[in-house]
Amino acid sequence: MNNPIGWGLIGASNVARQWIVDAIRAQPDSQILNVLSSSEERGARFATENGIPAYTTDIDAILTDGNVDAVYISTANQFHCSQTLAAASAGKNILCEKPVALSIDDARKMIAACHDAGVVLAVNHHLRCNAMHQKLRQLLQAGEIGRLNAVRVFHANFLPQALQGWRINDPNGGGLILDSTIHDIDTLRFLIGSNPTHVMAMTQSGRLAHDGVEDGIMVIMRFPGDVLVQIHGSYTVPFSEGGVEFYGSNGVLIGRDCMSQRAAGRLFMRNADGEKEIPVHHHNLYHYALAAFSNAVRGTGQPAATGEDGLAALAIALAIRESALTGRQVEVEIP
Ligand code: NDP
Repeated sequence: MNNPIGWGLIGASNVARQWIVDAIRAQPDSQILNVLSSSEERGARFATENGIPAYTTDIDAILTDGNVDAVYISTANQFHCSQTLAAASAGKNILCEKPVALSIDDARKMIAACHDAGVVLAVNHHLRCNAMHQKLRQLLQAGEIGRLNAVRVFHANFLPQALQGWRINDPNGGGLILDSTIHDIDTLRFLIGSNPTHVMAMTQSGRLAHDGVEDGIMVIMRFPGDVLVQIHGSYTVPFSEGGVEFYGSNGVLIGRDCMSQRAAGRLFMRNADGEKEIPVHHHNLYHYALAAFSNAVRGTGQPAATGEDGLAALAIALAIRESALTGRQVEVEIP
């Protein structure tokens, strides 16, 4: 382990540019050494624009560099598995974007490879790093609204033009479920503290996406304790606000504007005493995730979301997709 932690970026992506380069540099002792792109021109531009000293089109240039301790994989979804396996066998710690993989078999291989290599595998499910969700979880665990009865998640927005590439036209790696609904799933697992047992879903397509790729969804899930959960997700709804509502036997917890990448969200509790706002001290979600990952790499903590969290979220997302395709309720099996 080098000090500072040396990073290689695998993927000259939008999310790296917008959030992760800054989040790595916000850590007291981390530096970005190299960026991989399949395009020499894109890699060069990414390196220049982000002040990264090197770029490469050959993953081995990163994986054989002894100064690189960790890699951030943010390529298109179908590359996450092969690049994680290569990085693990080179002894690099891995922060991988979600979905961790496209199949359960691949995700299991990734977890096993990282375990065998003794490296950290984290999956960047950022919403659990939102301070409002963390506060909401504390209140639920403290029993502030009594027995949980039902939950509603609102995660509909209009996909910005800049993101309308593979998300809306790749039937393998694209689509709302593995891009966005999987975040809702991870957030629900984090907040409720368990996995759903059954899911049902209906999807829309064709408003923005094509080739059968879904761009809208309604999901119903049953969690242990007979808790019913509903999700509405969409790429095609402008002017909507993301939120969550938790309905308990003694009260309701309402999170508003809390399903984005920003350090945002307001939390309200409503019960027999009326409605009050619960103060939330926000922090940058990605800084939080990178701090947790860095501690895990140093052996002093755990990632915010592990490879196992990524696998569970993927398994649930695939069950939702199966339900949407077959029109049937699907029992969820977490491998
Ligand atoms: P991008 O489309 O920006 O990047 C994905 C890949 O597309 C890049 O690795 C790049 O390949 C290639 N690419 C980028 N720009 C171009 C271009 N102009 N022409 C052709 N190819 C291009 O994707 P995102 O940043 O939106 O997503 C990357 C990953 O991160 C996905 O797995 C996604 O699910 C995840 N994500 C996670 C978020 C989170 O908050 N956790 C938020 C957004 C995305 P190359 O590297 O070869 O240059």
